[in-house]
Amino acid sequence: MSLLVTRFAPSPTGHLHIGGARTALFSWAFAKKNAGHFLLRIEDTDQARSSDESARGIMEDLAWLGIDWDEGPELKRGIERSRDQGTKGVALGGDPRGVAPFFQARRVPIYNAYIEHLVRLGRAYPAFESSEELDAKRKLAVVAKQTYRYDRAAYHAIPTPEARLAAMKDADASGKAYVVRFLMPDDDIVVDDLVLGRVHYKHGEGGIDDFVLRKADGFPTYHFAVVIDDELMGVTHVMRAQEHLNNTPRHVALQKALTRLAEHGGGAFRVPQYSHLPLIFNMDGTKMSKRDKAKAARQALQAWIKKGNTDQQAAEMLGIGLADVQAFLAKENDSVDTAERIASKLGVALPEIEVSDFREAGYIPEAIVNFLGLLGWNPGMKLADGKDLEKFDRAFLAQQFSIDRIGTTNAKFDRQKLLSFNGDYLNAMTSERFADRWEHWLLHEQGEGNRGQPAAIAAVLRDPVRRLWLAGAV
Ligand code: GLU
Repeated sequence: MSLLVTRFAPSPTGHLHIGGARTALFSWAFAKKNAGHFLLRIEDTDQARSSDESARGIMEDLAWLGIDWDEGPELKRGIERSRDQGTKGVALGGDPRGVAPFFQARRVPIYNAYIEHLVRLGRAYPAFESSEELDAKRKLAVVAKQTYRYDRAAYHAIPTPEARLAAMKDADASGKAYVVRFLMPDDDIVVDDLVLGRVHYKHGEGGIDDFVLRKADGFPTYHFAVVIDDELMGVTHVMRAQEHLNNTPRHVALQKALTRLAEHGGGAFRVPQYSHLPLIFNMDGTKMSKRDKAKAARQALQAWIKKGNTDQQAAEMLGIGLADVQAFLAKENDSVDTAERIASKLGVALPEIEVSDFREAGYIPEAIVNFLGLLGWNPGMKLADGKDLEKFDRAFLAQQFSIDRIGTTNAKFDRQKLLSFNGDYLNAMTSERFADRWEHWLLHEQGEGNRGQPAAIAAVLRDPVRRLWLAGAV
């Protein structure tokens, strides 16, 4: 039997979002349950937005949650887990099956070989239009009230695969910019999703046209790199958020068009088993997003201004320009920096969204893992008193996780419940264990400026989440 492989494929453009942690946890649990491997791949092909620092932060957050990857970039230093949580400096990752590198930016020659392969097969073609030309066409479609779809002009302009490859070579030599597009087949596409069932896409539905596979900067698009890597890394099961569902027909069409190069053993690409996970909503029915921080800060600032302060006074208080304050108030941007300034000046708490926010606030990984385990999944078990079994740890998930218990409706992010889980886990600790963990949190988990400072201790006394740390001590 072949090895079951799941993967988590974050783009290192910021911190690990709590929803991303849920995807990683489910993928990890499913791999563990089936004696498979959980692989971590860093999708850093958007050069302008990706950073190694962010990749490292994501890995450390995963390690902190105990979501250890069997394959992927090595995290040598590990994180300093506190004494009772196990060894310090655990080494994660590695390449037991020889499928590295795990950073997509280091795989560009592989993508290029497959681009050439697809062009040779007549399934992809170079397109030389400027963005101005394409914008003009897009605008015409808007005026005509039609959905814009690329018109395939570049495909017809150069009639054969050989001529297309020659045109690409010439352009590469002369530095002329172009993209490579996929010749999207005219067939309808079926996605068999293990959670959502069969999803049909009629030809052209969802604005799917001859999408770009390689950008003008020479890097592959997400769609192309994800398909190549899932195949070459032997990924059998893809779990990801439902936001990606409409990307999947593109991926399936590509998988059907592609064959492995001889150096990769030849043969058709496989279609992995997809599971699209429920979206995560706030209790007020809005979708949980990074923007929630800006939303909360904006409300606080608006209330402050209503009390008789001016925009100019707000700018002075925050130490930023008037235009920036007004743009933020007018929702022209959702700057986290501005949101954090407002929060610290007005003494309001912003909602935690990223794993690092929860870490800093004093949540512990046991509580978060348990809570995430119930975000769109449940074990379907009862306790002796007839109540649903809700408290479990990672080992339980690794033994019990199953795709058929993943829900299809939106998951609700109930902060009160998370808070109460956190309190329960803290209260269940012995005093020694608690003291050890608290010291560790104070020294390592607080935001940069706060670590081990009296101010951090003062914050503990004021903040409701952090206060639990003290509650646990008594
Ligand atoms: N890099 C993509 C993201 O972070 C991965 C999506 C996928 O799992 O295919 O959204």
